[in-house]
Amino acid sequence: MPAKLIDGKILAMSIRQQVVRDAATLLEKGLGIHLVAVLVGHSPAARVYADNQARTCRDMGIRYSLLEFAADITQVQLNTELARLAADTTVTGIMVHLPLPAHLNTQETQYAIDVLKDVEGVNPANIGHVVYGHTIIAPCTALATVELIESTGVPLRGAEVTVVGASRIAGKPIALLLTERQATVTLCHIHTRDLFIHSQKADILVVAVGKPGLISAGHVKPGAVVIDVGINRVTTANAQGQLVAITVGDVDFQSVLPVAGWLTPVPGGVGPMTVAMLLKNTLRAARLVHKLEKPF
Ligand code: NAD
Repeated sequence: MPAKLIDGKILAMSIRQQVVRDAATLLEKGLGIHLVAVLVGHSPAARVYADNQARTCRDMGIRYSLLEFAADITQVQLNTELARLAADTTVTGIMVHLPLPAHLNTQETQYAIDVLKDVEGVNPANIGHVVYGHTIIAPCTALATVELIESTGVPLRGAEVTVVGASRIAGKPIALLLTERQATVTLCHIHTRDLFIHSQKADILVVAVGKPGLISAGHVKPGAVVIDVGINRVTTANAQGQLVAITVGDVDFQSVLPVAGWLTPVPGGVGPMTVAMLLKNTLRAARLVHKLEKPF
């Protein structure tokens, strides 16, 4: 029997509906929700992303502002702006679009984002809180991965989990959150000697690398839950023989489908759930800022 597909779009929809209800509850109390996105430089791609974000937030009842700075802003100026947003009581959420221009330090910038307003969960303090087992705001892709796994009903406690890819933004936070849920987690990366040994034993296999087709049927334990975090643009020939650009994950979908028990599609899996988790985090940040919830 082929794997059951885990539909990230449907799950994301139900989270968005909850966000709309939560936003209405805050607004009824006269408590604002205001997300400020910081964009340095004039990247057309980031602009399109920001426009989409603005539309999504408006639909949810969330106020959204895009704060744009010239590409030559200094680190000190950027840190000062982030400190100003941290002190501004009308701002409840802050995010910084990446990548930043090369002269700016991404980590230093993320340190400067207020911990309680850090809707992407990228301030190293927020990752540290996950390590200490009292999450304040966790990174969105890691939260999305956990929600997708939990939606299958396959228990995480005691499960053998292999995470392939160990980046700061994806693999490491995913491994941390899954460890926090009592799974036995193996974290693989470019220097892992034999990926097969680790992937084949996994009840739950999470792949976040950025290499199309990295994981094929032979890597997967029959019946496993497979979560494909990868997003890759590739060129392929369509039925008419024309070259077209499509989005694929890191998992060879067609070969893994008959082997896995559960599988996320790309697109339509982790991607929409990550956006939904950003919105959920935006509400969490607003409740923290308005002191309706405690960080600890
Ligand atoms: P990255 O380049 O920062 O990290 C890649 C990781 O994969 C590294 O830890 C590296 O050691 C490991 N790796 C590389 N080759 C490997 C191999 N052959 N075997 C095992 N490990 C290997 O990438 P990233 O930012 O973590 O993104 C990874 C992928 O996830 C990309 O496709 C990205 O677009 C996608 N992504 C998706 C979302 C989402 O919301 N769906 C969010 C973040 C990233």
